[in-house]
Amino acid sequence: MGNDHYDVLVIGSGPGGATTAARVAETGKRVLLLERGDFLPRERDNWDSHAVFGTGKYTADETFYDRHDRPFQPELHYYVGGNSKVYGAALFRLLPQDFGEVQHPNGVAPAWPLTYEDMEPYYGRAEQLFWVHGQHGEDPFAGSSSQEYKHPPVAHEPHIQEISDGLQGLGLHPFHLPLGVQLEQDAHGMPTRESLCLRCDRIDGFPCPVGAKADAETAVLRPALATHPNLQLMTQTTVERVLTDNADGSARGVAVTLADGSSHVFTADIVVLSAGAILSAALLLKSATEKQPQGLANSSDMVGRNYMCHNNLALIAFSRKPNPTVFQKTLALNDFYGPSDAWAYPMGNIQMLGKSDDWQLKGAAPRGLAWAPSAPYAQVAKHSVDFWLCSEDIPLADSRVTLRPDGAIKLALQPNNNVEAVMRLRHTFQEKLTKLGMVHMRSVRSLYLHKGFEAAATAHQAGTVRFGTNPSASVLDVNCKAHDLDNLYVVDGSFMPSIGAVNPTLTIIANALRVGDRIAERIGTTGGQPSTATQPAQPGAIT
Ligand SMILES: Cc1cc2nc3c(=O)[nH]c(=O)nc-3n(C[C@H](O)[C@H](O)[C@H](O)COP(=O)(O)OP(=O)(O)OC[C@H]3O[C@@H](n4cnc5c(N)ncnc54)[C@H](O)[C@@H]3O)c2cc1C
Repeated sequence: MGNDHYDVLVIGSGPGGATTAARVAETGKRVLLLERGDFLPRERDNWDSHAVFGTGKYTADETFYDRHDRPFQPELHYYVGGNSKVYGAALFRLLPQDFGEVQHPNGVAPAWPLTYEDMEPYYGRAEQLFWVHGQHGEDPFAGSSSQEYKHPPVAHEPHIQEISDGLQGLGLHPFHLPLGVQLEQDAHGMPTRESLCLRCDRIDGFPCPVGAKADAETAVLRPALATHPNLQLMTQTTVERVLTDNADGSARGVAVTLADGSSHVFTADIVVLSAGAILSAALLLKSATEKQPQGLANSSDMVGRNYMCHNNLALIAFSRKPNPTVFQKTLALNDFYGPSDAWAYPMGNIQMLGKSDDWQLKGAAPRGLAWAPSAPYAQVAKHSVDFWLCSEDIPLADSRVTLRPDGAIKLALQPNNNVEAVMRLRHTFQEKLTKLGMVHMRSVRSLYLHKGFEAAATAHQAGTVRFGTNPSASVLDVNCKAHDLDNLYVVDGSFMPSIGAVNPTLTIIANALRVGDRIAERIGTTGGQPSTATQPAQPGAIT
């Protein structure tokens, strides 16, 4: 296999791993990116709701155990690009207050060791990297931005514009949802209605067979692999353990299982872990040694703890008037994000989803109706308007990832973690929608596979390897390097000490750029002029 020693080795090709790998590759140093999955095939089934939701064709064949040791299938996707292959590409910044301590009725979401201002430049770069379309300044609750989005917002279709106007009439502040998609533009740089993406109603949960969604493979990895011959991707390569040096305990490399089932070792000066918040924690625990018996980087006993995943709720409103919208995911609302007249505590974010179809509605139907043929649901779907409500959950020490004696992963979620916020958000928003004539609120769509099984809703996993300044209360330092090891970094969603109430991926990408910068500074550059694909655009370069 040639020279198996690399300057930097990255585990996992989701938004965190792919972004750091691409950034570090700009140094010209040898970077190896290891991914357990393969490329997700571009095929007809990508947009087939039955294949995606009915049979879970793209969901990993994986079994975890809940706090009662009951088995469940987590919502994970092992592919180049990770879970972003199926994500909804809603790419929000956290709000400034999320970086401070946030008081909830039964607990506190802790402060970050960074401020919004520290993260702001990286958010700008992340937005450019992931083709985000949006409009800064529209949401009065958002933080300031030093640069405008590179791409204009995706316009509302008429039915959604009516809802937006209606919400505004009620004194609320709807704004265009920041979205990572690729759209054809007219002569004035505005997205055309003929853009393939806007003629498609398949986004949340669906892979994109035409590459029009900014996932980690299309937006970052493919361009980086094309530009940097020093970046190497190995697919179908599962990291089994992070190996350490016996003498000083630093990370030495990884032991992997290759596609043919054989074992192999790769070594590196720096190891970057980005397997997703659950699997990164599990890998650190699995990599225990005699010197570090509690698991790697775990002298604090914090690895695996403080798991968060949001309190999410997909809400289907039914309007008497048909909703002919094709591309529905264009509107969001932060009016109830912080304390408001409606409640003294934060409730959360509201955003639109892609349009429900018959299979998704069938999945949300009460038990006993699920046998029914899907045709009536297709009629009902013509009247549905779909929203996603997201509230913060609090990091709890006992909401944690551990390994069972048989080596399987246990994900123990503590119940009733700030769920009142999302319930209040639902009722508050339903009241508003009722005023707009959407009175028939019939069903709450349990998105994707986790109907009735809370722990399986792993889409927004975060928090299990938190960063901080205190080595006894956090696993990583402020640069996301392990307190205990000089050459191990973690860049997936696990670094977050609190999760806020917006989808996490833009923050993961921004942080991965930040950590990538630190690693690049540390290792220096090799020869030639480094490419700057993940660097901020020069002033004037924004179109
Ligand atoms: C249906 C769905 C919709 C979503 N919609 C949104 C949205 O609209 N907006 C948003 O912000 N977020 C959304 N998310 C969440 C988003 O996908 C995640 O936040 C994001 O993918 C996390 O990136 P990551 O790099 O931390 O980890 P992941 O994307 O989980 O990537 C981890 C990678 O590591 C690989 N890996 C794991 N273990 C190993 C190992 N041992 N060896 C080698 N490789 C390994 C995995 O195969 C995977 O490719 C959604 C998620 C889902 C499932």
